[in-house]
Amino acid sequence: QKPSVLVLGMAGSGKTTFVQRLTSYLHTRQTPPYVINLDPAVAKVPYPVNVDIRDTVKYKEVMKEFGMGPNGAIMTCLNLMCTRFDQVIQLINKRANSDTSICLLDTPGQIEAFTWSASGSIITDSLASSHPTVVMYIVDSARATNPTTFMSNMLYACSILYRTKLPFIVVFNKADIVKPTFALKWMKDFERFDEALEENRSSYMNDLSRSLSLVLDEFYCGLKTVCVSSMTGEGFDDVMKAIDESVEAYKNEYVPMYEKVL
Ligand code: GDP
Ligand code: MG
Repeated sequence: QKPSVLVLGMAGSGKTTFVQRLTSYLHTRQTPPYVINLDPAVAKVPYPVNVDIRDTVKYKEVMKEFGMGPNGAIMTCLNLMCTRFDQVIQLINKRANSDTSICLLDTPGQIEAFTWSASGSIITDSLASSHPTVVMYIVDSARATNPTTFMSNMLYACSILYRTKLPFIVVFNKADIVKPTFALKWMKDFERFDEALEENRSSYMNDLSRSLSLVLDEFYCGLKTVCVSSMTGEGFDDVMKAIDESVEAYKNEYVPMYEKVL
């Protein structure tokens, strides 16, 4: 069975641009992906899309109809989509015979709309129980140069990993702006992160971040990381390699764990 890749990350981290780049990367290799857009509020989808939430629910009309603000409307659209997600799963599984490669899912700009909602969990679980599923967590490397921002972002990644328990790849995006090697060093060596902390911020923030970095050490061990620029296209060979390895991890670790629960 061909895998699904769920693309998550903070607003503006570059999820949509990443999906666009990976899609064109796969097209040039004659292995086009099956692409699903789950962001009801996006104005324009910049890649060829197979299933678009905007065809199922109209974001603007949901706002009008139910008298909702933007966030409520996004949640409602996801809930509505969720009720029909079994049909999407069928579509994804059907193309398993065709020449498409992976299935890529783009998610709403605001990460919590997906990760803190019942519909997000249901969608994630129905993918993961149907076929190999991998989470790609996109990080804006330029913003992560601030150690406390980096720490918050990693804590968020950690909470998603432990909620989904799925194979998890951290994608340091925007490598064209700053080389994400600093982040890899921080993850590998706690003292390097400590040094970076000394350079700024209040001591309270430093103490907190320092303690957290000790806790996260164990979380970092279970992670795969790749550095890319969705703008220039560098690093996408590594992306595909990480996906392949994660699919193996899904088979060897996720499936046995899932079967035990059943
Ligand atoms: P999303 O909200 O996570 O879907 O983020 P978008 O894909 O809409 O990207 C947010 C902004 O970051 C846009 O202005 C993109 O052009 C920009 N962006 C995304 N990836 C990169 C990258 O690799 N390098 C640079 N320089 N900009 C990027
Ligand atoms: Mg987007």
